[in-house]
Amino acid sequence: MQEFLNIIDGKGVQSSNGATFQNINPANSNDIIGTFPLSGKTDIDMAVASAKAAFKAWKLTPAPKRGDILRKAGDIFERRKEELSRIMTREMGKPVFETRGDVQEAIDTCYYAATEGRRLFGYTVPSEMHNKMNLSFRTPIGVCGVITAWNFPIAVPSWKIIPALVCGNTIVFKPSDDAPHSAQIFAEILEEAGLPAGVFNVVHGKVEAGAALVDHPDVALIGFTGSTATGKHIASICGAMNKRCSLEMGGKNAQIVMDDANLELALEGVLWGAFGTTGQRCTATSRLIIHEAIYDEFINLLISRATKLKLGNGLDDTTQVGPVINERQLSKIQNYVTIGREEGALCVLGGDRDTNGDLAHGNFFKPTIFIDVLPSMRIFMEEIFGPVLSVSKATSFEHAIELANICDYGLSSSIYTANVDAAFQAMRDIEAGITYINAPTIGAEAHMPFGGIKGTGNGHREGGWTAFEIFTEWKTVYIDYSGRLQKAQIDNQ
Ligand code: NAD
Repeated sequence: MQEFLNIIDGKGVQSSNGATFQNINPANSNDIIGTFPLSGKTDIDMAVASAKAAFKAWKLTPAPKRGDILRKAGDIFERRKEELSRIMTREMGKPVFETRGDVQEAIDTCYYAATEGRRLFGYTVPSEMHNKMNLSFRTPIGVCGVITAWNFPIAVPSWKIIPALVCGNTIVFKPSDDAPHSAQIFAEILEEAGLPAGVFNVVHGKVEAGAALVDHPDVALIGFTGSTATGKHIASICGAMNKRCSLEMGGKNAQIVMDDANLELALEGVLWGAFGTTGQRCTATSRLIIHEAIYDEFINLLISRATKLKLGNGLDDTTQVGPVINERQLSKIQNYVTIGREEGALCVLGGDRDTNGDLAHGNFFKPTIFIDVLPSMRIFMEEIFGPVLSVSKATSFEHAIELANICDYGLSSSIYTANVDAAFQAMRDIEAGITYINAPTIGAEAHMPFGGIKGTGNGHREGGWTAFEIFTEWKTVYIDYSGRLQKAQIDNQ
């Protein structure tokens, strides 16, 4: 069995106590991908020391040069795209046509960030005094801790790592223990692109390693993607330490279908939004809100199409829905199905595991649809993170928006309508960081702000130009060339 190592200061190292964990293919529990270090505080201490030492030179490397390295990284991601996509599918399950998109997002992020090395704009503005100049520019923050979920093992880390690096920060990355192999390839690619040793370090492990990173006094920033419960806990520690943290957390995203919508288009959208990545996306469509005039008709169409979705190993090109990530998540989903039934919602499709034939050794759960779901039910309100869609009936446009907004999360949202007035009102009134018009709740592009409000985020946005706000501090400079003392707010009155 292949043994993988942490990457600290450019070298492969075991965990300090030699402990490891196994990485298992969720489509086939007999397929063990390898062992990875089960790291703890000592390993994090070593990685942070390495990142801290490397920061001295990296922050002084001209930003366009840093950008050149990231452009090369984009080229290498492109070259290794197919190989990497298959590695990702093997360790986290989603079909390979989806993992290709995951890698593409990192390629796009590299190329975008490379050009940002030649911008990183600041401001030069007039002074209120004579013979004085005011300017401001961005400076790196220092050692950044990056902690991520497993469901986008390359794209999500790239949204943090690539902008952080072009800004001149160094990194300790604690990837999810459910997708550690992808993180290893990420490190290989950055090394081949020419990133100096120590600038990017990878420490594998579980909660203990993540907690040690958050707690480390030399880590100036935590970039986190994961569940809302973990994110809030991390935020409380960062708050007490006065440490910057950006949080990308859970979602419970709604797609609205109005009675004037193109139903075939809305159907394609919800099938992709709800069951793509087996519903394990922060932006997955987990609620469907249908206008009462088309409620029965649309549900019948939905059931007839969802029944035909093909479950299987994501490495098989005909697979449409892959496995759920692990046994723990499988039981969580099953538990929510029981809760939904007990609450009085009607399960009209799926509702249990699929263990037929080749699926017997994997974590497969049938696409599941509940109808007549009310806001008082937990399956309406709570993130399930699996192939479970909760369908509710709206009596009007206003009611649909109200239902969409009854939720503690605020990541993505969607409305299908042919009415331009309704579309614009929805853009304004839906409480979410992202709203799609006549498109599903998933489909973010790398150059646009990405993130959510309410229980999903803490005010930051990844993607595009907004990511650079997270990873830089502002330095303001006043240059007085008058040759005399000028007192602001006093001498110019
Ligand atoms: P999780 O919160 O269990 O774990 C996320 C990461 O945090 C893992 O690397 C884990 O090891 C680490 N971690 C756990 N406890 C920690 C602690 N106390 N201190 C430091 N690190 C700790 O989430 P998950 O199950 O891996 O991922 C699923 C969740 O991620 C879902 O809620 C999903 O919506 C969310 N997600 C959000 C986005 C987004 O951009 N908003 C994207 C992808 C996934």
